[in-house]
Amino acid sequence: MALAGPLAFRIGYSLYARTRLGYLFYKRQVKKARERYPHGHSVPQPLMFRGVKILPIPVLSNNYSYLVIDTCSNTAAVVDPSDPLAVQAAIEQEGVTLQAILCTHKHWDHSGGNSALRQRHGSCKVYGSACDAVAELTNPLADQEIVTVGQLCFKALLTPGHTVGHMAYVLDGKPFEGPACFFSGDLLFLSGCGRIFEGTSETMLASLDAAAELAEDTLLWPGHEYALECLMFASLLEQENPALAQKLQWVTQQRVEKRSTCPSTIGEEKEYNPFLRTHCRELHRALGLQPLSDEDWDSFRARVLREVRRRKDLYKAN
Ligand SMILES: [Zn+2]
Repeated sequence: MALAGPLAFRIGYSLYARTRLGYLFYKRQVKKARERYPHGHSVPQPLMFRGVKILPIPVLSNNYSYLVIDTCSNTAAVVDPSDPLAVQAAIEQEGVTLQAILCTHKHWDHSGGNSALRQRHGSCKVYGSACDAVAELTNPLADQEIVTVGQLCFKALLTPGHTVGHMAYVLDGKPFEGPACFFSGDLLFLSGCGRIFEGTSETMLASLDAAAELAEDTLLWPGHEYALECLMFASLLEQENPALAQKLQWVTQQRVEKRSTCPSTIGEEKEYNPFLRTHCRELHRALGLQPLSDEDWDSFRARVLREVRRRKDLYKAN
């Protein structure tokens, strides 16, 4: 979406998020992406641990859907089925029964496949936030609510900011003796975070703080493949961060080979993701920001977040 000024941008966003024009735009995006990337934009790397398989499905030009399979019962949930054909192909290839769609938010590039998959899989439920107008929603969720699919146990986290009812999902790893898995939608990306379309930087900060509180070894499965651009942006801010330099080198290599860069971990992200580092002096110095004498710490961190987000928006626009 071109950023031709705040008013034009707001009108464009409203048309995309709230009208049929947005759906038509999404349909065109799907068609173009299928032509351009007949095998997906990236080479996915499935992950298995005892009893669970996570299959990233590259869709559109940089989105990920995730098929999460309970391998004992061959039942599955899908997170953000943007392109129903790509998701259906994965379901057939894996030979699983789709029981749930876990939708992070209403934007069509995350929810556009809900309707077609519901029609095909009659017993499949659609989960998401009631305040986010998710297409085909059957089971509205509240913050911290649990969704079970076979042996899989997901906790919904209300994480507003990108949209008013954005939900992220944490798969409990304990039953599988593995790490937790965080499906973050457009809240958190590798070295990035989502645009703040429907909230304030204070709202987004609280949502990012909830992500940062997850266990360090939690695997991060984001809604988009934005790693290279986000790390390049972050390295303009923190030029002396060895963890950042190392990750950028690895991601650059992965992308040369068009390999997916997920998952990352929450522990890793805290080392280089500027949107999770609003408390860091190095970042404050890079931005030229200091707390004001009467400013509480969280208000200051929200101001830091706003400034990082503003710079990232400009970086992307150029
Ligand atoms: Zn979005």
